[in-house]
Amino acid sequence: MHLPSYRGRFAPSPTGPLHFGSLLAAFGSWLIARQAGGKWLVRIEDLDPPREVRGASGEQLRTLERFGLVSDEPVLRQGERDAHYRQALDRLLASGDAFECHCSRSDLAGSGGVHRACVAGARRADPAIRLRVPDGTRIGFDDRVQGAVTQDVARDVGDFVLRRADGPWAYQLAVVVDDAAQGITEVVRGADLLDSTPRQIFLQRRLGLPTPRHAHLPLVLDADGRKLSKSLAAMPVDGNDPLPALRAAWLALGQQQAWPACDSLPMALDAAVRAFESDRIPRTPPTALAALHNAAAIDAA
Ligand code: GLU
Repeated sequence: MHLPSYRGRFAPSPTGPLHFGSLLAAFGSWLIARQAGGKWLVRIEDLDPPREVRGASGEQLRTLERFGLVSDEPVLRQGERDAHYRQALDRLLASGDAFECHCSRSDLAGSGGVHRACVAGARRADPAIRLRVPDGTRIGFDDRVQGAVTQDVARDVGDFVLRRADGPWAYQLAVVVDDAAQGITEVVRGADLLDSTPRQIFLQRRLGLPTPRHAHLPLVLDADGRKLSKSLAAMPVDGNDPLPALRAAWLALGQQQAWPACDSLPMALDAAVRAFESDRIPRTPPTALAALHNAAAIDAA
């Protein structure tokens, strides 16, 4: 049997500079890919122009490079892949799995925002396109970090959007098309996206695409237990001094072996790949806080 060789990825949205939570996803996915002797790819998820910050993707890529994390293949940009998303959408429309939807947010308020059938009061000039999720669609998968995960997609999510009424492609469609186009064998990302994975697996099945393995890394919380992205702690990481932040990420990934004591970044990264134990990655972030505080202490020293 021919097993595809490992291909992992890091897929930031260019909404600002790289913060510690993104570094954790980048470094975690890089370590797992390198240890598997595989490739690590970077994809810029620039689907939503109003949320993007000018110059952010260039800055993110430069920061990653300072951390020694460089894509093994040319960086893919979702903003340039319209035709591919269109093709996938056309197939789903032709098979009857996707449909035009005129429902507004307030139309769906009665069902908690979950779409089970069209209840639109009025037709819109620019309808959204949704994927039909039949009753009883339960999707399960075995996550490398989080273990067995199951979701009743019909009940908890409903028919979900593939293209928004105001035009942009939905993340769910683009990510599935691109993971397949890039031959990704394992998706390693933050646990904030755990809830999206059953939708993505369902969409992969509808499109006849392979489902990669998954590893959802623990989220980094701040001292008040809030998600990092919502706190002051979401400060940009310092690409001019990569080792302390890498060491903090190493601890947040639950690693017991000491962070390699090297001053050279390439040597530290090589040693980290050799020492990395992916089965130590915690589901929740007990060490992450300490890691963050250590990093701050190191920065202050
Ligand atoms: N672009 C998403 C983000 O920055 C990540 C998507 C993914 O890894 O699937 O949160």
